[in-house]
Amino acid sequence: MEAHAVNPWVAVAYLIAGICFILALRGLSSPATSRAGNRYGMLGMTIAVVTTLLTHAPLASDYVSVGYAHGYEWLVEFVHLDVVTAIEILAAIAVGAVIGLTTARRIAMTAMPQLVAAFHSLVGLAAVLVGLAAWLNPGAFGILDDAGQIFLPSRIEMSLGIAIGAITFSGSVIAFLKLNGNMSGAPILLPARHVINFGVLGAIILLIAAYVLSGAGGPGEGMLIVWITLLAFAVGFLLIIPIGGADMPVVVSMLNSYSGWAAAAMGFTLHNTAMIITGALVGSSGAILSYIMCKAMNRSFISVIAGGFGADAGGAGEGGAREQRPWKRGSAEDAAFLMKEAENVIIIPGYGMAVAQAQHALREMTDLLKEHGVNVKFAIHPVAGRMPGHMNVLLAEASVPYDEVFELEDINSEFAQADVAFIIGANDVVNPAAKTDKSSPIYGMPVFDVDKAKTIFFIKRSMGGQGYAGVDNDVFYMDQTMMLLADAKKMVEEINKSLTD
Ligand code: NDP
Repeated sequence: MEAHAVNPWVAVAYLIAGICFILALRGLSSPATSRAGNRYGMLGMTIAVVTTLLTHAPLASDYVSVGYAHGYEWLVEFVHLDVVTAIEILAAIAVGAVIGLTTARRIAMTAMPQLVAAFHSLVGLAAVLVGLAAWLNPGAFGILDDAGQIFLPSRIEMSLGIAIGAITFSGSVIAFLKLNGNMSGAPILLPARHVINFGVLGAIILLIAAYVLSGAGGPGEGMLIVWITLLAFAVGFLLIIPIGGADMPVVVSMLNSYSGWAAAAMGFTLHNTAMIITGALVGSSGAILSYIMCKAMNRSFISVIAGGFGADAGGAGEGGAREQRPWKRGSAEDAAFLMKEAENVIIIPGYGMAVAQAQHALREMTDLLKEHGVNVKFAIHPVAGRMPGHMNVLLAEASVPYDEVFELEDINSEFAQADVAFIIGANDVVNPAAKTDKSSPIYGMPVFDVDKAKTIFFIKRSMGGQGYAGVDNDVFYMDQTMMLLADAKKMVEEINKSLTD
């Protein structure tokens, strides 16, 4: 079958969808405009999906041509790759929509990062399946030349799309298991892992070159694609298992980027401009986000994507023996009393605030403190919580004014003038080991200088619980620290009660 000529109206519709996606990304760059950004994204996707359906569904009867299937005709027959009707597509959309809606309604805010990882894995898997379908039935995809061979560019796009998709899939599954707690967050370091990783990556590149340069339908070609797929699945797994502790944010944004590039490659195979644009936008914005996260973590991008370069065997999550050092316990009344009298209070929220859903009570606390003339600011670390922007989203949900929320580099110098540093469910982002302990898995990550504040209140549930990186925190034992051991929401509600008494 010949490639479909592009209808100018389709091109215009895809262009509008592309513009909507750009506006969506722009909107999502700030909590104030993120809802509008979301709407643009939904509008763009609706235009893209409807246009694709209108263009392709009526042509379903064309999809009977099996170019060749390398001896896998039985598989094509079996899964009906050559027959796609509008009804089948709509049924698939309905099933996906029901699963998506149910998941979105049920998912807890704290489980968002693993949900994102799961979605990335689906994008990767979709790219692999589309690539394999195109390889099995190239005629249906309009990628055969007159000699009955797959076009050379299509071979490149397909094989790259399958490889990137497979890496994204298995990498995201491991990220999901680590974020969901099904697998330890600690790095799993195989001996000679860099040699293995580079060896397997090199083998994939050679196989792709061999596939691209080989004649279509040649003997052994089938095995080339199968090997590319299997080795790429292995690479995704090998690249993510050694990444642990504090480096997970980079992994999540990096997999986001990979999923975009895999989709873009498949957009070429499917001759779908909207998919190319969307894939490229996701790929490049994910890459920019990974770069920003690396900068925030003071990590080298290359070392993280190379799979835990520099991570050493005693790394994250090991925990280590907790030292028996003296620490002071504080109460809600202590916190209320000292903060009421303070001039400047800086609040540092972290993952525990999200777990406890303490943001509304916290907003109430800041309102009460402001009534007492206290100057309150929020300090947000770029990797606080479990996904980029996690804290900003929660504070925005509780209507905390944006001008009270400050990034690390803008507020870190102010701790020296702060009367109180109020740490609520944060741990790694205030751990001074990042500055002083070269053997620590978070060493090198910029952290808040809370130790410079006159008084520190530290909310967490127990002295035993550790942060994501699994390391002890000297702040617990500092002279000016009072530990407020309780669920964050309950503790803040008690403080609010004391502030109003
Ligand atoms: P941490 O994970 O370091 O610490 C969370 C703290 O919250 C712990 O001290 C925990 O102690 C406490 N906590 C948990 N539940 C509650 C509760 N209900 N009430 C009160 N306290 C609670 O969080 P941070 O935000 O400081 O650091 C984020 C970490 O996550 C970094 O290491 C970062 O690299 C990593 N990460 C970040 C991602 C991102 O994109 N932002 C993605 C993946 C990982 P206790 O159990 O004793 O209560």
